[in-house]
Amino acid sequence: MTDTRRPFVAGNWKMNGLRADGLALATSVAAATPEQADQCDVAICPPATLLATVGERLAEIGGAVALGAQDCAVAVHGAHTGDISAEMLADTGCRYVIVGHSERRVDHGETSALVHDKAQAVLRAGLIPIVCLGETEAERDQGRALAIVGEQLSGSLPNDAGSALVVAYEPVWAIGTGRTPTEDEIAEVHRHIRNEMAGVSGIDPDAIRVLYGGSVKPANATAIAAIENVDGALVGGASLKAEDFGAICQSFAEAV
Ligand code: PEP
Repeated sequence: MTDTRRPFVAGNWKMNGLRADGLALATSVAAATPEQADQCDVAICPPATLLATVGERLAEIGGAVALGAQDCAVAVHGAHTGDISAEMLADTGCRYVIVGHSERRVDHGETSALVHDKAQAVLRAGLIPIVCLGETEAERDQGRALAIVGEQLSGSLPNDAGSALVVAYEPVWAIGTGRTPTEDEIAEVHRHIRNEMAGVSGIDPDAIRVLYGGSVKPANATAIAAIENVDGALVGGASLKAEDFGAICQSFAEAV
């Protein structure tokens, strides 16, 4: 493991929160994670409407919680109604941008080619893409989990990112369901991701953090954090409760 693989826990708030809720949650997350700052990178990814507000609150607090977005457009600017560019997200104070979340791949028909272009746009803006990969339940049942994740990886990861890239393995069937793969299954996919990254030119496979996502909660975080090649977590539902999110960050900080 290289020192670029400090544990990293990111909270994906999805389409949740109005201004008051977002401010309260960001303030509580900052209060729930101060001790982890030395051992674990922490980010929250609110909906686009809250990025500026939450970013300002995090800056006022001055803590170590970074800001991330949940998606971006490929273009820099122009006639793209409703879209938000990576440069605009950088201007709002973001450090990370999630791309290729399965909810976008499914709900918006995003292909790996588009996810690749979005990840490149994020790098162009000087930010760090969190590129999501993961098989459906049917694909796992057919014994195709590794093949699907490998295909998504080679189609979605941009070249020449060095170590400025995060990958998140999120089995679609584990997202928001309370079900998780076994520790051996997670280890197998993460090992596969690490090996397959060697085939992407201009990236350093040993230096890139590979997060696990899908029903991570305080009760399973310590076990997941101990799995080889798991460098952190992408957390959905549990990131909406500051106490739970703080406990998950603590588990990853302690796993160093
Ligand atoms: C997610 O959607 O990225 C996620 C991991 O969700 P949950 O933790 O709720 O399964």
